[in-house]
Amino acid sequence: MSEMRHNWTKEEILEIYNKPFMELLYEAATVHRLHHDPNTVQVSTLLSIKTGGCSEDCGYCPQAARYHTDVEGNDLMSVPQVKAQALRAKEGGSSRVCMGAAWRNVKDGEEFDQVLEMVRTINKLDMEVCCTLGMVTENQAKRLAEAGLYAYNHNLDSSEEYYKEVISTRGYQDRLDTIDNVRKTNVTVCSGGIIGMGENIEDRAGMLVALSTLNPQPESTPINALVAVEGTPLEDQEPVSIWDMVRMVATTRIVMPETQVRLSAGRTQMTREGQAMCFFAGANSIFAGDKLLTTPNPDVNEDMKMFELLGMKPQKPFTKKVQPQTVEAQDSQIEALGEKPRWTRPEHKIERNEAARALRKQD
Ligand code: SF4
Repeated sequence: MSEMRHNWTKEEILEIYNKPFMELLYEAATVHRLHHDPNTVQVSTLLSIKTGGCSEDCGYCPQAARYHTDVEGNDLMSVPQVKAQALRAKEGGSSRVCMGAAWRNVKDGEEFDQVLEMVRTINKLDMEVCCTLGMVTENQAKRLAEAGLYAYNHNLDSSEEYYKEVISTRGYQDRLDTIDNVRKTNVTVCSGGIIGMGENIEDRAGMLVALSTLNPQPESTPINALVAVEGTPLEDQEPVSIWDMVRMVATTRIVMPETQVRLSAGRTQMTREGQAMCFFAGANSIFAGDKLLTTPNPDVNEDMKMFELLGMKPQKPFTKKVQPQTVEAQDSQIEALGEKPRWTRPEHKIERNEAARALRKQD
């Protein structure tokens, strides 16, 4: 029931997803207990170090410059600003800081050097550092690893088929190539997706096939419920039901037994009872802080009260893997190559993305 497999098929995953609810919950909880302490939750704080103005067309994202949303963009944060936020996160019980920049891909230069300095600074605070900066080359991943990065996040978002209905400015293979580049270092991989974007259950299973057949499987997998933001192409999507969320978490737990499954966006729409069901089904990580990049998230104190109620404790940093060493910039052995990789631009037409973009033009 809990062996590590990298050959899951869509049919097998669908069969798990569609099991009678109680049976699914019981199986997932059993796998969870075999691989994890069920009373421990890994807590991450997500920090938007560069917000808005993104060139991509991800249909769910209020940071895409082409859609009309209320997101106010800002330039890259300074290292002292990031350090102050990281210290606050640590005091609030987070073991990890995840820094997100609204970039299509990493570009060598001053801004990336600044991000590397942020990584060094947070690692020296004895916190796990994660970055989500878009697509990265092998050399860039190595530079991040050398700075002391613990994890790199790059979500697959959905199945390969449905991905084409949401994003036209880059291809699924680019996502997989970035994950592959990260895997050539000792940085752990964080990759998951979003449900509630209009995909069907086969697409959810397809995404889990793509994730679970990676070898090794991602060390962490965020499961997001879409937060439909006004002005984005997906603004009219109905909220995901808690039952779907629990099924998705439970199925992820069963097919990826060692992975930390993270409840991510959409937690404000869930009751405590709903979240407790997700923890029972195998979720063992959350994002803390009142904002997730640009969308709302429960208050930290509320989360701590929920943990107390459930008898759960935040996981200590470096429980799953030892702390990486930080190499200072002046001692670095890896030079910036100034690469200009050819990431794909399929640019096929997605009607709802075009419609949202046209609305922006009328303003
Ligand atoms: S999800 Fe990332 S890449 Fe896509 S539009 Fe938003 S910030 Fe840009």
